[in-house]
Amino acid sequence: MAYVIEGSTGAWEVVIGLEVHAQIISASKLFSGAATAFGAEPNTQVSFVDAAFPGMLPVINRVCVAQAVRTGLGLRAHINLVSRFDRKNYFYPDLPPGYQISQFAHPIVGAGVIEIELADGSTRSIGVTRLHMEQDAGKSLHDQHPGKSCIDLNRAGVALMEIVSEPDLRSPEEAGAYVRKLRSILRYLGTCDGNMEEGSLRADVNVSVRKHGEPYRTRCEVKNVNSIRFVMLAVEAEAMRQVAVWEAGGTVQQETRLFDSGRGVTRPMRSKEDAHDYRYFPDPDLFPLVLDEDWVEQLRRALPELPDEKRARFMRDYGLSAYDAGVLVAEQATALYFEAVARGRDAKQAANWVTGDLFATLNRSGRTIEDSPVSAASLGRMLDLVADGTINGRIAKDVFDAMAETGLAPDAIVQQRGLRQVTDTGAIDAAVAAVLAANPDKVAEFRGGKDKLFGFFVGQVMREMRGKGNPGLVNEALKQALT
Ligand code: ADP
Ligand code: MG
Repeated sequence: MAYVIEGSTGAWEVVIGLEVHAQIISASKLFSGAATAFGAEPNTQVSFVDAAFPGMLPVINRVCVAQAVRTGLGLRAHINLVSRFDRKNYFYPDLPPGYQISQFAHPIVGAGVIEIELADGSTRSIGVTRLHMEQDAGKSLHDQHPGKSCIDLNRAGVALMEIVSEPDLRSPEEAGAYVRKLRSILRYLGTCDGNMEEGSLRADVNVSVRKHGEPYRTRCEVKNVNSIRFVMLAVEAEAMRQVAVWEAGGTVQQETRLFDSGRGVTRPMRSKEDAHDYRYFPDPDLFPLVLDEDWVEQLRRALPELPDEKRARFMRDYGLSAYDAGVLVAEQATALYFEAVARGRDAKQAANWVTGDLFATLNRSGRTIEDSPVSAASLGRMLDLVADGTINGRIAKDVFDAMAETGLAPDAIVQQRGLRQVTDTGAIDAAVAAVLAANPDKVAEFRGGKDKLFGFFVGQVMREMRGKGNPGLVNEALKQALT
């Protein structure tokens, strides 16, 4: 079902293109040897190059180039063996040279694609226009001094990838799914940690609206949106605003806006600048970047299995639904955990435990799967205990909770708490007899034709046996006793 905004003049379609800035994982900066660690004391990770001292020369960081190429390969994109760095000129206090080194006319990566997955189980291919490398700027700090602003240059010169999408996205959900998927791919590749709170990943959200079948209308760009939820909210708020402008007989002006998450609206920041405003020109301090084809091939061969391939394999090898497979592959650590549990066992059961009880436990305790209180080995062992009849499926829930609480292995819990399944028919018959004796009226009703009461008896017998009865045997015994 297409996402539309209903206005007074009819339905409006929303058109979205995203420019995502992703900080490259690298120990040092794009053109200097200064460190990149997050959270260091201000101005402790700044080289003369980053501070733009006269006469300092940039030297390209090979690791950053490899990371950009690997990302391009992961996005099934064209790798440009020759690319070039340009100066993008503008003044800002946190930009000591007065220009940012970026790639404009000749980016390192050309067209690619990102497959997004939607809640209804469908998928869509979203075009990636390009990926280019550029430097980050420093940071102005306005809360350090009553009358002055301070500058922290730690971030100045840190390597970024800007990943630009085609205007192919059509709803807040699709925009969110795009960022989620891109983030997942970057994390699998180890090229960006995807940490949106720390600013390692941020999105500029371009939005326009149009009537169905029309050419694109003017867009606005909402800058620096730093969570997936905010990307979705910013799309919605900006699209609504534009519909209102058009419907009031006005014209949407191309401009840069900011999302005010407190009020849920976008507000103007500056009128949109065009490329010519930046006076781009090739940086004379840097040679064109020429890549060796064999080196690119080496990088390609060394790529890990990425989310799409893993998802397809999980569906094929484990018979999982597209949805379950998608959830399990979103994070590499989750996929690893799942496979350790599923190998040699009932994969659907493994998937249910991981996406159900395990995720719920992790959410409640605010933990990640890497420090899960229940290891994959323990959960697997617990499934074995169910499969070999040591415990029944109902008691398994209690065993799981106990594992989560104590970190103990399942065998120890079953042993200590006496949770073994009861298959002794003598004990089961005794429990059945006790329940029938305590409920003569219900027995009469059942015998009078009220079949639905059977479930009630099963529940009572199980309760009598403190959940440990073998469900099959309990059913059998009850059937015999009641007829
Ligand atoms: P610029 O270089 O001025 O930022 P681009 O053409 O590179 O402009 O586009 C930037 C982003 O805006 C891309 O992600 C693109 O998909 C998106 N975009 C372009 N036109 C539209 C439009 N009419 N509506 C929504 N997004 C658009
Ligand atoms: Mg742009």
